[in-house]
Amino acid sequence: DPRPHAPGTSRAPVRIGPLADLLDAGLEAPVLGGRRVRHVNLDTAASAPAFAAVAAHVARVLPYSASVHRGTGYASQASTALLEDARIAVARHVGARLDDHVVFTRNTTDSLNLLASVVPGETVVLDIEHHANLLPWRRHGRRVVIARTSFQATVTALADELARRPAALLSVTGASNLTGEVLPLGLLADLAHAHGARIAVDAAQLLPHRRVDLSASGLDYVAFSGHKAYAPFGAGVLVGRADWLDAAPAYLAGGGAVASVSIDDVDWKPGPERHEAGTPNLVGVTALAAALAEFERIGELARRAHEAALTDRLLGGLVGIPGLGVLRGFDDLDDRLGIATIELEQGSVGLVAAALAAEHGISVRAGRFCAHPFFDRIARRANGLRASLGAGSTSEDVDRFLDALARLVADGP
Ligand code: PLP
Repeated sequence: DPRPHAPGTSRAPVRIGPLADLLDAGLEAPVLGGRRVRHVNLDTAASAPAFAAVAAHVARVLPYSASVHRGTGYASQASTALLEDARIAVARHVGARLDDHVVFTRNTTDSLNLLASVVPGETVVLDIEHHANLLPWRRHGRRVVIARTSFQATVTALADELARRPAALLSVTGASNLTGEVLPLGLLADLAHAHGARIAVDAAQLLPHRRVDLSASGLDYVAFSGHKAYAPFGAGVLVGRADWLDAAPAYLAGGGAVASVSIDDVDWKPGPERHEAGTPNLVGVTALAAALAEFERIGELARRAHEAALTDRLLGGLVGIPGLGVLRGFDDLDDRLGIATIELEQGSVGLVAAALAAEHGISVRAGRFCAHPFFDRIARRANGLRASLGAGSTSEDVDRFLDALARLVADGP
């Protein structure tokens, strides 16, 4: 069994669902009332546990720890091949064009900061974004359009903004980390291009649930993180058009990004390495590629069918619980990921989240989810509680959450 177990964790069998055997069930099953129960992880929108196949891949790769691109030894060549294979795998998975760059970063936040450092003009964003797709642009000419409750009206507002003054880039999330609503990316790509702008997609939430394809959807850039896509922490990517990346100064200055250095001059490399100075996170990027291979093996239809059934169950169940509401940003977008953020009419979502963990073995998240402007616009309360489904979620998980939530809300503050 290649699955790693943290010291002190139990190997007691846990009940697993249709796709759950793809995951490492290494998190100890909590003991409640003297009984060991399955840990219900409804916080995968924050970070998702590594697929078992990814953990096995990492175990195979670890012995190759050697310098990438800089050594002539066998292990160094193997490390370099692993890294470059991962680059090709990422490019293929996201439908990159032949001349796109795949730049490895630490996470989505890092990828969007990198893109912000190379964009040759202003960037338009919506107010629904995660802070990772709001804050980097502030330093580089950012214009924010406040979304409307109708997505169609939002598109009109975006078109007006892009027509009012040229922008270099429209940067949008593929799916909201707050409401799970999926944005029609092809339509937004056409809109940006019609106004002479490029489009970048923050796919941190979307990619772990849906195939993202640059070529098919006409997208110029995509950014995402390994740790939300069933790979370990610490690796992310920015994929997209090479020209801005090659024309801009290196994002990080240091070894690996340069062709040649004298005391006074530097000849920066073109290509992805220009922005990847320092020793790369080989384990992280090869694990990320392994996770993408798992998505391909599971298949898009199976992923979507599994999630759609559980999302219907979750949303349908929430509607039946008095005293809470489910947040929505747009009343005309039906496509949703398995993410539901609720607010309570009374009481504290923080206390409910804590009770879900301590009394029911259920992980959710409470707060404003690093999307403060969006949350503050659509919510009536100061904080929300988010349940997010993952590849290993089961209908029993959803039912346990709904039952526990209904009881806690009925018990009152
Ligand atoms: N974008 C969205 C939509 C997210 O949900 C998140 C994380 O929650 C991020 C960006 C930032 O991801 P990371 O923390 O991996 O950089």
